[in-house]
Amino acid sequence: MMKKPRCSLPDIIGTSEMMRRRRRRRKRYALAGSLWKKKVITWRVNSYTRSGHLDQGSTERLLYEAFQVWSRVSPLKFERGSGEVDILIDFGRSHHGDGYPFDGAGGTLAHAFFPGEHHLAGDTHFDDDEMWTYNREEGTDLAAVAVHEFGHAIGLAHSSAGASIMRPYYQGPIGTVEDYQLPLDDVYGIEQLYGRRKESPGERPKDDPAWNPSNPEVPRPHPSSKPDPSFPDRCTIAFDAVANIRGEAFFFKDHYFWRIQRAGNLVSLNPAQINNFWNGLPTDLKKVDSVYERMTDNKIVFFIGAQYWVFTNTEVEPGYPRPIGDFGLPLDSVDAAFIWAHNGKTYFFKGDEFWRYDEQRKKMDMGYPKKLGLWKGVPPNLDGVMGHNNGDTYFFKGTTYWKMRGGEIEVESRASTAQGWMHCDVPPNAPRGQDPDAEGCSCMKGRNAGLALGPAALCLLAALLVHHCSLQLLTD
Ligand SMILES: [Zn+2]
Ligand SMILES: [Zn+2]
Repeated sequence: MMKKPRCSLPDIIGTSEMMRRRRRRRKRYALAGSLWKKKVITWRVNSYTRSGHLDQGSTERLLYEAFQVWSRVSPLKFERGSGEVDILIDFGRSHHGDGYPFDGAGGTLAHAFFPGEHHLAGDTHFDDDEMWTYNREEGTDLAAVAVHEFGHAIGLAHSSAGASIMRPYYQGPIGTVEDYQLPLDDVYGIEQLYGRRKESPGERPKDDPAWNPSNPEVPRPHPSSKPDPSFPDRCTIAFDAVANIRGEAFFFKDHYFWRIQRAGNLVSLNPAQINNFWNGLPTDLKKVDSVYERMTDNKIVFFIGAQYWVFTNTEVEPGYPRPIGDFGLPLDSVDAAFIWAHNGKTYFFKGDEFWRYDEQRKKMDMGYPKKLGLWKGVPPNLDGVMGHNNGDTYFFKGTTYWKMRGGEIEVESRASTAQGWMHCDVPPNAPRGQDPDAEGCSCMKGRNAGLALGPAALCLLAALLVHHCSLQLLTD
């Protein structure tokens, strides 16, 4: 897996593979499929955080202690080395040399490569656009993220257990790292890979004379981490655009985006900045209108006003932006665009009309625009539309989404985007399945009226629990 071309977006995988992978996973801890064939693993820090909250000594100490967390429950020993080591640790920003650019503050916090023969195997990178701290409410807890990442670096994938450091979310500080006890799920996972620890945990080795780290201050621990209030609140906003890219759901708002992986987890409660991830949109980007992944060549197309941009993965192609007139659209902007899996055509939405474009012939189909009402039950002036992995179609407007199953063109259900996608708690006084969006309600007379199917969407997402890239994009 390490030899495959690497991307910051998930791998492109075919439908048949998608079907094969669409199995509900039973066990909780999950293994990467590779492990170290030795018990002594060397590590060193190659570059340090520049964020100023943790000095080099504190960083060394926290990373040392994060390794000890795994060493205490396994036969593995982690030795600080020099020169060539198994686990090389770096703090980097954006593009940092491995083909997996970081995305600025928020979003992805760190990533680690699974064990193996490749020279990057085990290497662990922290996004230095995060504010790295220790045991504080503000910033991102280096100890917590390091324990999680080192779990990947020794061969653990994400766990679905309720209590696990390998859950795909950042869960906030873990308290004093010297005292941190791994949840049982993680202990079982590591035992499965390397067997049980034989000898009793002895003295903490202090065999490295060069190692004399200072103690970072230890304020009182905070058990949970809240999303940063300076970002838009994903639980109450209407999104500008949605897209299914490589099987992951992307939600765009202003110059930010949230990303939901195939397993259904948010990469981060805090959004990432569009321009830190996609290279080539206007630097003063305010918002995007629409985004979709082109089926013919897996390029990603962004629409802003009367212009569009085409990206190969995260890099814009030369010659863009171009006018949306290229598609035969007589418009100054589009509300939404997506590819319908059932005929491979691209649909553009504006107001109460839609157009159908043929990517093979590079021509708008005859007879368009047509009235939006042909998609029975969706409101006009949509925010976004996407197909999701199993071919269902999702329409978004305001804080609501409408679902059409498979190749059907009639709404099956509607629910709250916050609940169904954004992992938000149900507001205490918000009636389920109701939405203040009157246009939406008027479309929902009939058999599906009043149904709240947020949990159904979550079940669907849970059923798609898979692991793809050789690289686990943390906290992810
Ligand atoms: Zn990296
Ligand atoms: Zn992870």
